[in-house]
Amino acid sequence: MPATDVPVRLDQARPAPAVGAPTMMKAVAVFPGKPDSMHLATMPKPTLDEIPEGRGVLVKVLRVGVDGTDKEINAAEYGAAPPGYDFLVTGHESFGRVEAVGPNVTELQPGDYVVATVRRPGSSIYDRIGTYDMTTDDVYFERGINLRHGYLTEYYVDDPEYIVKVPPELREVAVLLEPTTVVEKGIAQAYEIQRRLRVWRPRRAAVMGAGTIGLLAALALRLKGLEVTVFGRTAKPYLNSDLIEALGARYESTSDVSILDGAARFGPFDLIFEATGASPVVFESMRALGKNGVLVLSSVTGGDRRIEVPADRINLEFVLGNKVMVGTVNANREYFEMGVKDMAHAEAQYPGWLNRLLTHPVQGLDNWKLLLDTLTGARGAIKVYCLVSDM
Ligand code: BGC
Ligand code: ZN
Repeated sequence: MPATDVPVRLDQARPAPAVGAPTMMKAVAVFPGKPDSMHLATMPKPTLDEIPEGRGVLVKVLRVGVDGTDKEINAAEYGAAPPGYDFLVTGHESFGRVEAVGPNVTELQPGDYVVATVRRPGSSIYDRIGTYDMTTDDVYFERGINLRHGYLTEYYVDDPEYIVKVPPELREVAVLLEPTTVVEKGIAQAYEIQRRLRVWRPRRAAVMGAGTIGLLAALALRLKGLEVTVFGRTAKPYLNSDLIEALGARYESTSDVSILDGAARFGPFDLIFEATGASPVVFESMRALGKNGVLVLSSVTGGDRRIEVPADRINLEFVLGNKVMVGTVNANREYFEMGVKDMAHAEAQYPGWLNRLLTHPVQGLDNWKLLLDTLTGARGAIKVYCLVSDM
């Protein structure tokens, strides 16, 4: 057992390590800009005093999920190291337990289970009012993604503003909170926008894509009582279509029914959540959207794909139908709190469902290569995640 695994409490602090010899810990890192550079790094264990005014929270990392963004970061399509470093610690889907808190932290205490947010504020007005996910700055800071180290390591320290408490009853599934927040934000934004209609009673929703985000979007919309149709590429039955049907939602494979035919049969769709990662689907979704509907776009598409679209028709239908389309990325603390509530609601309404998304655990940071191979190669993976430390 490495020395860094010994829990530290303020009331029983270990003797301070000699100056110049900080306690070291492992981290999974990349050299941004250099493809396929993922490796195991060592770095000093963070300390509470890195956060000013006694507001530090030291968290022991228990589990970290990985996703397409991590793939892109390892492919050097994305990501930047923090200033002063040539490497970036990856991992933005965290789950951990508080080990120690600074003297001015009242929100959290040692033993609390927590998930950290990803984005950190820049300087725009949106950043300054806590809605840093809406930044208008060109440079943005995201832990594990851009200019800030992530969570695929043994410990992290942060301000309680960015650390959200999770009830112990959710600890088995809490590693799914970060991806859930992407969905929470998108849906909350849709409802916010639809206040334009004075009365909006959405009844039917479609979700494009049956990956992790699509599944979580279907869940959140079912919890709101909507009739949900999920469109995916794979022919059913398979694990994801079973999961969708377990929510009382409908799964349609686009190899059997096109999105437009699906809209004619199962629509009109008041809300569409696009999460396929494929930009052409956006234009089909625009056509599939019902009158007064809202289309939420969440796919981050780094490529340069071009397609031909029926521009006049799409435009006409949008204008005559008072339709609206909105992009959404990341999430602030508010959406993490909503996510906790929806996950608790999900456990009550669809017990065990969230657990079924946790398809591919990988034991320990030392197995980072297996984690990466599973992420890039495993068939039928919904959530690949690292068991960094035992609960
Ligand atoms: C993360 C988001 C992030 C986005 C873009 C996604 O994978 O889940 O939190 O904002 O990538 O960096
Ligand atoms: Zn992500």
